[in-house]
Amino acid sequence: MTNFFKNLKNNKFLFIINLVYFALGFVNIHFSLLGLICMMLPLILLVKTNRKTYCQGYCPRANLYTKAGKLTSKYSMKTPAYFIKGNMKHIMLAYFGISLFFITMSTLRVASGAMNPLEQLRFMIYFRIPFKLPQMFELQGMAGWLTHLAYRFYSMMMTTSFLGLAMAFVYKPRTWCTICPISTISEIYLDGRKRVKDEAA
Ligand code: SF4
Repeated sequence: MTNFFKNLKNNKFLFIINLVYFALGFVNIHFSLLGLICMMLPLILLVKTNRKTYCQGYCPRANLYTKAGKLTSKYSMKTPAYFIKGNMKHIMLAYFGISLFFITMSTLRVASGAMNPLEQLRFMIYFRIPFKLPQMFELQGMAGWLTHLAYRFYSMMMTTSFLGLAMAFVYKPRTWCTICPISTISEIYLDGRKRVKDEAA
């Protein structure tokens, strides 16, 4: 198992995990719930190792942006300063928080029967994607709230991946990482730990 993780670190094919994730959404949307692992793993590793272990070699998304960004690296522009030092990371963190809030509340409403599952993709929570995601097979008997949650999760992953890719093409390949909510949460956590340590010393 240790060797497996060693081989995975900075593996040049990590981006395939990302592509497989989105492809699986076409097989059946419920696979999108695997994205929960993507969201939890960086935080679990952060708490376990007290550093951004996931960001430093295991993130398929960062690997995808690095690959994609190389295609336009000759024309890439300087990353805007407000991405690195300004409020952009807090705006993105707020977007992430609001998305999770809407996902949770709407899923609870579907589970309680107050609304029907929304079986459609949306970009940035609001904009409906004008076609239905093709499904290779349907799962019978799935709870409506689970299907709703799966579509909402896929929508969030699709939105953030699209934004990150657009940034990789326009700016430096890993520009998304400067404003990635997971990175911002990790920094807040590590700063907090350092402050507690300093106060105790
Ligand atoms: S900052 Fe976000 S996208 Fe970048 S490596 Fe970390 S988790 Fe991945």
